[in-house]
This record gives sequence, C-alpha cells and structure tokens, in this order.
Amino acid sequence: MVGGVSAPRKSPALRLTAWGRPPSLADVDVPDPGGTEVLVRVEAAGICHSDLHVLDAAPGALPYRLPFTLGHEIAGQVVAAGSAATGVADGDRVAVHGPWGCGECRRCAAGEDNYCHRRAELAFSGAGLGRDGGMAGHVLVPHPRHLVPIGDLAASQAAPLTDAGLTPYHAVAGLTLAEGAAAVVIGAGGLGHVAIQLLRALTPARVFAVDVREEALELAARSGAHRTLRPGPDTAAVLRRETGGGAEAVLDFVGSDPTLSLGAGVLRPAGSLVIVGSGGGKLTIAKPGVLPPGVSVSLPFWGSARELREVIALARAGRLRVETEPFPLTAAADAFQRLREGRIRGRAVLLP
Ligand code: NAD
Ligand code: ZN
Ligand code: ZN
Repeated sequence: MVGGVSAPRKSPALRLTAWGRPPSLADVDVPDPGGTEVLVRVEAAGICHSDLHVLDAAPGALPYRLPFTLGHEIAGQVVAAGSAATGVADGDRVAVHGPWGCGECRRCAAGEDNYCHRRAELAFSGAGLGRDGGMAGHVLVPHPRHLVPIGDLAASQAAPLTDAGLTPYHAVAGLTLAEGAAAVVIGAGGLGHVAIQLLRALTPARVFAVDVREEALELAARSGAHRTLRPGPDTAAVLRRETGGGAEAVLDFVGSDPTLSLGAGVLRPAGSLVIVGSGGGKLTIAKPGVLPPGVSVSLPFWGSARELREVIALARAGRLRVETEPFPLTAAADAFQRLREGRIRGRAVLLP
C-alpha cells in the first residue's frame, strides 16, 4: 500500500473518441486510485501494429466502448495506490501486464488474463484496448497483479517487452524445436525481430526470416536470423529446399492471405503454424487440404503475467533487446503514420 497522490491533477492522454477518426491528445483528469487500483506515471508506451487495426476498425467491429486512451505496452513508476492494493510501493518501477480480464475465472486466477473465460462478455481486452491505456501521462491499473517489477531496466525497453516481447515469447514457448529444426518468421517488425532473438536464445532452431522491407531484413539478421528472404513467387520452394524439406514451425506476424499460404506451403508434416498477425487473411482447414498431415495451427494471444516476468528477466540479463525508435507523446500522430508506411525500425515508443 502507498500513500498520498503526488501527481498533477491533469495530464495528457491520446484518446480514441470516434471509430474511423484519428486519436487526439487531450488533457484529462489524473484518476485517484481506489480499492485495488494502482496509479502509474507512464515513462514509455510502445506503439503496436494492433493499434492501427483498432484505429482502422469499422464501427461495431470491436466490442470496445468509446472513448478510451490508447496504449497497451506500458512501463513507468507507481505514484499512488488504493487501500486494498498490496505488494506495491511508491516509486516502484514496473511494466504493466496489459491483458486485463474478469479477475475471477480460472485463467485470470493463473495470471492468464489473455485467455479470460469471460472475454466475450467484457467490452475490453486490456489496457488501451477498451480500457484507458498508457499513451498518457498516467495509467490507472486495476490491480497490482498486473505489475511486474523492472528494476533498472530502461522504460523504453520494458514497455515494448510487454507485448512485442511477451507475445512472441508465449508463441515460442508453445513450440518444441529440436536440434536441426527450422523455424520461419514472417514479418520482422516490432514482434518479429524479438521472436527471432527468442528463437535463437531459447531453441537450437535454424531461423529463416521473411519480410518485404530491406530494413526489416537487416534488423532480422542483426537479431540472429541465419537467413533472410524477401517474399517472391519461389520463396516457398527456396525455403523448402534450404530447410531440407520444410520447417518445423512457421510464426506468421502478418497473417495476410499471401503469408498464410506461404506458411502452409513451407511446413513439414507435424509442424506448427503459429498465426500471430491479424492481417485479415484466411486459411481453409480441410482434410486433405493445403496443410501437411499432423500440422497444428495456433492463434496465440499475448501472454501470461508469469511469462512477462520471464521476458523481463531475459532482458535484464542482456539476452533480449528491443530495437526502438523514441517519439514524444506529442508526436504520436507522426509515429502512427510512420508505422503505417513501414518506416519504423523495430518498435516506436512514445515518451510522455
Ligand atoms: P509491425 O508493423 O511492426 O511489423 C510487421 C512486419 O511485417 C513489417 O516489418 C512488415 O514489413 C512485414 N510485412 C508486411 N507484409 C508482409 C508480407 N506480405 N510478407 C512479409 N512481411 C510482411 O507490426 P507488429 O506490431 O510487429 O505486429 C504484427 C502483427 O501482429 C499485427 O497484425 C498485430 O496486430 C499482430 N499482433 C498480434 C498479437 C497477438 O497477441 N496475437 C499481439 C500483438 C500484435
Ligand atoms: Zn499489441
Ligand atoms: Zn477472467
């Protein structure tokens, strides 16, 4: 439990007020935490490609109620807490575990709010996704269980680790990759370049990275990819040949029709197709069909609080580093536009 609010009464927040309209920066009241709530002064908030999907969503396509503050990758400092918020102290530096569920189901009790059983009933999936998030001076976190201590890790690293780090970590944790296995990462952007580092740090797999942008392929190589390719008509054939018959795992961080069909086309029997990107593509599952026998298809969403602690530990041990481009919160519109145009290397991070 911590004491009095040492925060200003107003601070800026990037608000989504109408579907199909760009978000706008507004001065909002700094909330007073009550009960289990914790007030965090935001030091950094990452911009995810999912934020663009939210901005582009048609009215009614997402269950979220407007308005809310964007930002689901958050790190900062605890500045106040409600009387029932135990285990936190004023000044604690924390990363925010962004998926916020009902708090009561079996999944939430296990820190797996990302798979909350009541997700369909809730009008939010977490911070900045239907609930006020971290592209702001402050964020009100509903419960201290969503906070992970970061020690002296830079906030500009910790913030993107909560999604660009956590989501690939959860995706890679679900794979079994033995010596000699091949993993193909499609899309080496914010999530993809961290996925490559995780595959190298945690598995013996040979890592192939595919991206349409030269700059992303350079980042993929620096992140540890053994081989980088731009997609073309013969990419599936090249990958099948160079992997010696196909990949044990494909991690698709795009999820469009062409990337899903590339993924399906390079898998070995009993391989894993891990679809992370929300690019609107479709894949027909049929027996027999385009997928080899024994293939598992998964649609992982974000990751658990325990996994976030493991990701933060890897970063603090120097085994993981997010490539970031910093922007002041006031330049959020420019940063969003750059992400849209494929002009961000790694992750854009807003600094309030
Ligand atoms: P990003 O924009 O940083 O990276 C996407 C990368 O894909 C870019 O480098 C881009 O050049 C590349 N790309 C685009 N089209 C391609 C193609 N046809 N072939 C190969 N590469 C291509 O995006 P991000 O923030 O890393 O997010 C990636 C995707 O994952 C988004 O759809 C996002 O919404 C989704 N996402 C899902 C989860 C989840 O839990 N499942 C979590 C976060 C993000
Ligand atoms: Zn995200
Ligand atoms: Zn729940």
